[in-house]
Parts: sequence; structure tokens; C-alpha cells
Amino acid sequence: MTIKVLAVTSEIYPLIKTGGLADVAGALPAALKPEGVEVRTVVPGYPAVMAALSEGETVMTIGDSFGGAARLVAGKAKGLDIIALDAQHLFARPGNPYLGPDGKDWPDNWRRFAALSRAAADVALGALDSYRPDIVHAHDWQAGLTFAYTHFAPSRPGSVLTIHNLAFQGQFSPTLFPALGLPAEAFGADGIEYYGAIGYLKAGLYYADRITTVSPGYAAEIRTPEEGMGMDGLLRARSGVMTGILNGIDEDAWNPKTDPHLAANYTKKTAAGARALNKAAIQARLGLDPDPDAPLFGLVSRLTWQKGIDLLLANIPTIVGQGAQLAVLGSGDPGMEHGFSVAQGIHPGRIGSWIGYDEGLAHQVLAGSDAILVPSRFEPCGLTQLYGLRYGTLPVVARVGGLSDTVVDANPAALSRGVANGVQFAPVTYEMMKVAIERTAALYRQPELWKKLQTNGMAQDVSWTDPARRYAALFRELLPTA
Ligand code: ADP
Repeated sequence: MTIKVLAVTSEIYPLIKTGGLADVAGALPAALKPEGVEVRTVVPGYPAVMAALSEGETVMTIGDSFGGAARLVAGKAKGLDIIALDAQHLFARPGNPYLGPDGKDWPDNWRRFAALSRAAADVALGALDSYRPDIVHAHDWQAGLTFAYTHFAPSRPGSVLTIHNLAFQGQFSPTLFPALGLPAEAFGADGIEYYGAIGYLKAGLYYADRITTVSPGYAAEIRTPEEGMGMDGLLRARSGVMTGILNGIDEDAWNPKTDPHLAANYTKKTAAGARALNKAAIQARLGLDPDPDAPLFGLVSRLTWQKGIDLLLANIPTIVGQGAQLAVLGSGDPGMEHGFSVAQGIHPGRIGSWIGYDEGLAHQVLAGSDAILVPSRFEPCGLTQLYGLRYGTLPVVARVGGLSDTVVDANPAALSRGVANGVQFAPVTYEMMKVAIERTAALYRQPELWKKLQTNGMAQDVSWTDPARRYAALFRELLPTA
């Protein structure tokens, strides 16, 4: 039997993306198809979404969707089966989906994502004659209210909430509660209330039948007071329905054999020669010395505290001291961006950076660097280390969340069993990162060992096959027993 899943998300690749959430929402429909799961996805009708949905059909009109008329438009967009909430007063704004031109959250985000969740709940409860899902799969706080809206219906589909980053919780003033159109009983600790405020993620976590997050490691961490960001109590209470399912990567977009961005394509067999060409290319592009023997560390990241970028900036002397180089691609915190420019000035030819967001350059940094740094303080799953594994670029990572689940440290035990594929460090401090950089440089100087680590990484399954199987099994558990 085909399982019909209605996904609800505020971003989906390739239509609209700010982070890993979009990648997951975009990849799951195709990955789930062989498992007998058909996914349709409700998304806000941002300009980019409506443009891609030009052939779409109006399947429902809404007289008042939180302050204005709206409609649901269904159709195919870039291979995805989309139902867009076309609400001009909420979503007809260019640029980042959450932030205004001043870089601050849109003040009406509470309304925008309540409207998204309300519309998704209506579809879930059968508002479209021709479609009724078996399961609703909501992603992150923007979709969290969906399950508050479906909870009070006499019958409703099974519900799964996936947390991509617990740091974003969607908390708003309790004075907005009457505008949400929920029954009074929804406002309480047993409902959407969160320490006196309204919590959209909290609502989803409370009402969902099942909770998943994007790695087993993160699933365990966020149940602790240290990493639970205020939600650990609720998450502990809901432990019995919570699992961690790792993300896969888009194996077509991230395939060193066919990647159009690379100076030289390669497979495991041809990696050595081709990677040397890619290394020379990225060194040239970022103004680094053409030094084939220097270990080249790469970074492709948002430049934020979460990502541990301050620890890397502090370790620039460590990298230079090891005779190594650093290739940086990132954007974010202005102080951190400036830090790399300064470092580049102090160490010309050894540190190269490009500040901004550039998909092609990200591929080139991955293919040309010897090691890829991911020093995150917390990391729900992380994609960059998975790209590193696939590209034969040794991941050097903090031992947190999904990083600890996917990278096997080159310690003596793992080396003797032949299973190591990278370097981990913990705790996430300047000192331990320094040791990790030094260990990596030492490994690099043992070519046979390095090659073995690289080959192990390239052989690792980072596809969506296994994760999709797990999601499908979870959905199946929630089907009504006939
Ligand atoms: P997060 O979603 O927390 O930023 P992930 O590792 O899950 O972290 O996903 C980050 C994604 O964004 C990866 O696909 C990474 O390659 C990409 N990325 C981050 N910064 C840049 C950048 N400056 N240019 C291009 N791609 C980037």
C-alpha cells in the first residue's frame, strides 16, 4: 500500500533554501518513493516558489488567512509535488524567508507560520476533496502549530515532527494567542504554552505522535539540560516516541565523478592525481601558494558561534605553524568575516578566504582541500563532513551530534580495526582543536595511512537509502491498523 505523506516545511531545495532543512525536505520525496511513500509538500508561496509553480492549479481559496485572502496552489515544481500557500500579504517578499531587509526577523513571523500550519492542517483534515494524507510530517518550528490545529479534530492523520535545529524555537508573546484560532485549552503547559509564552516548536513537540531529529547523537544530547535549550524536560518526557535518523546527501549534486564545478573529476581509483589538480586550482583561486605538499585545511560554513569559527580563528597560528594552509568559504558574523581577512593579510599565501555564499566554490573547496574542518559546538547532523567523506577530504570534527555519529576518529583502536575515516576532538575548545589540527597534519605526513583513511571515507554510505527506509518504517508504524 502506498503511504501518502503530507510534508510541511518553510523551505525546500531547490525552490528556497537557507540551510540543511531545505536539503532534507527536498531530498526525502525522491528517496521515499522506492519505499512506497508518496510525499506532497506544503510550503509558503514565496516569490521563488510561485515562479516555479507557474503551471499550478488553485485547489482551495481562503477568505481570511491571518489578515488577507489566500489560496492553495498545487502542482509540480522542479520535480517536487508542491502545495503552496499563496498569501501575498504574508509571503510576497523577496530575499531571506525569515528576515527583513534590516536583517531582523519579520515582525509578523508568528502570523506567517501560523497561516502555513493552519493551511497544512486543513489539508491534513481533508479540505481537498481529492487528497487525504495518511501521515503529516512537519519540519521545525515554522510547521510546529500544524499539530495543535489537527489535535482537536475528531480524527486526524498520524503526525511526525522533525527537529533540524533546536536553537530555533519560534517563541512569541502570549497576547497573540486569541489570534491563532485555537481552543482555549491549547494554551497551557499541556499544549502550546512555553514558560508563559507561545512556543511553536514546543507545540509540535507536545502534540506530535512521533519526534525525530537528524542524528542519534543529537537526539541523545538534546535530552540533557546542557544541550536541551530549555526543551530537555519535554523531550525527556517524550523519549519513548523520539528517534534520531541521520540525513543523507544529494548524491547527484555531490558526486566527484560528475561534479561540473571541479577542475578534475575522480573516483576512488583516480582520486590521488585528480585531487592534486583540484588542490592546485583552489590554491590559485584563493591566492594560496602553489604548494602541493602543504596539508590544506578547508572550511565551508556559516560563520557563527555555533559552528565554532572563533576556535578556528584562534587556531590560525597552529595551522600556519604546521606548514599547512587554510581555504575558507563562508559568511555570517561580520567580526568573524573580518577575522579571516585580517588573517589573510598577516599570512599571505597560507590563508585564503572568500566571504559570501557560492555553491560552486563550496564544491571546489571540498574537492581541493586535504581535510575539511567542522568545529561546531553543536551540530544536529551536519552535511559538510558527509561531503568530505564522499570527496576523500578528511573530516576533522568536533565530537558532537551528527558529527560524532558519522566520523570515526583515527585513534589506535579504530586504526587497528581499519575503520577510521577522520579526526574528532572533544571537548570543543581551542586546545583540543589545536591538538586535532596537529594530529591531522601528522597523519597527512604518513601517505599510506592517509590514503586508507580517505578510502574508508569514500566507501561510507552517505546516501538517503538507509535514512529513507527508517522514515518509511516510522510512518508505517503510525498507520491505523485495519
Ligand atoms: P547548517 O544547515 O547548520 O548551516 P549543514 O552542514 O547542515 O549546516 O548544511 C550547510 C550547507 O550549507 C552545506 O550544504 C554547505 O555546503 C552549505 N554552505 C554553508 N556555507 C556556505 C557558503 N558560504 N557557500 C556555499 N555553501 C555553503
